[in-house]
Amino acid sequence: MKVHEYQAKELLKKAGVAVPAGIVAATPDEAAKAYDALGGGLIVVKAQVHAGGRGKGVAVGPEVDRQQALAIASGQAPRPDGMAKGVQLVKSAAAARAAAASLLGKTLVTYQTGAQGSPIAKVLVTVGHEIARELYLGLAVDRALQRPVLMATTEGGVEIETVAEHSPEKILRVPIDVAQGLLDFQARKIAGALALTGDTARKGVVFFKNFVKLFLDTDASLAEINPLIVTDNGDVLALDCKLNFDDNALFRHPDIAAMLDPNEEDPSELRAGKSGLSFVSLDGDIACLVNGAGLAMSTMDLIKYHGGEPANFLDVGGGANKDQVLEGFRILLSAPQVKAVLVNIFGGIMKCDTIASALLAAYEEIDFRVPLVVRLEGTNVELGKKLLKESGKKIITADGLTDAAQKVVAASRATA
Ligand code: GDP
Ligand code: MG
Repeated sequence: MKVHEYQAKELLKKAGVAVPAGIVAATPDEAAKAYDALGGGLIVVKAQVHAGGRGKGVAVGPEVDRQQALAIASGQAPRPDGMAKGVQLVKSAAAARAAAASLLGKTLVTYQTGAQGSPIAKVLVTVGHEIARELYLGLAVDRALQRPVLMATTEGGVEIETVAEHSPEKILRVPIDVAQGLLDFQARKIAGALALTGDTARKGVVFFKNFVKLFLDTDASLAEINPLIVTDNGDVLALDCKLNFDDNALFRHPDIAAMLDPNEEDPSELRAGKSGLSFVSLDGDIACLVNGAGLAMSTMDLIKYHGGEPANFLDVGGGANKDQVLEGFRILLSAPQVKAVLVNIFGGIMKCDTIASALLAAYEEIDFRVPLVVRLEGTNVELGKKLLKESGKKIITADGLTDAAQKVVAASRATA
């Protein structure tokens, strides 16, 4: 799960990691008030969306072509005058109001959001600091090392992907022992690599240790501070922060789970989650209903191998009942681009005749506007197939994965 920058900064602050003072605003008036409450001077107004690249991103209304907006946000097309950026520096309450008005209710398109962009419902109004140096700090789980790794580089502000590709030697990588957190000598090593000295180095050490502790305590899966800045006064501050959390550990963190912003989530994925189903949207035109994530992966591989493209996949898990299968089909078919549906079920715990009955019940209740291909295997498979055959419904049955993939690809082409 992702959270907004303002939420990430609340967590950082609580954990003792230094962040600039800020107030979140949902209207231009609130932004103007926040400007004054923060003491005026140089203030930054920042669009809150779950994506980076906001500094170069563009806030657009429905009248602007999104592909064009993406080209501008990616630096491939010239930026027209007056097109609002996602991060704006202001020096008066009136300018803060205007900056908020240019963002709120618009869609922010950045190189990370893609052409569809993300809706801006809130802005963060935050104290602007004079930046002496822009650094980078990141934490991710290294699966080969089986532990989190802290990454630090003096090349902050720019896209870290570029640094990693062209000058990986500039990134210091420090593996973390999850039982011990960041040790003092490791924190000092990072401060040294970032060329922090004296009091600034001491502030850096506290910053790094608390940042790692927050990561471990919250079951975060990814944390990034870009830029981490050193101010003119020698303070170390997180100017930006992205935090992602492990969904499977959210039950331990109700305060973080409550930060979920439904506007940033795929509506179909949310709807599926409510019924205990896992759903993932993709770009193709063949919908897949399967049981088990591994089967989902191999089903999609085979569809692609035979020339098709999956539109989505829905994992009904180990013990789906009729209601779940019904809801699953409704979600799958709600995607307008779907041209065929493939059901690929391996009856292990679940019996094939149970699934066949649920399928037939769903077929009665839902308008199947596209062909349905079904492949069943496992416990009671003969009984399941018999039920489908004797139903007289227009269901295409398949034997084996290859047969199923070929049939559903052919069916999707016939519909198209
Ligand atoms: P991102 O583009 O989504 O990663 O958003 P950031 O929060 O990183 O902001 C983008 C850029 O805006 C930063 O790299 C800074 O150059 C600039 N910026 C953000 N906050 C401040 C600030 O307080 N002072 C100054 N001078 N620049 C800022
Ligand atoms: Mg940033």
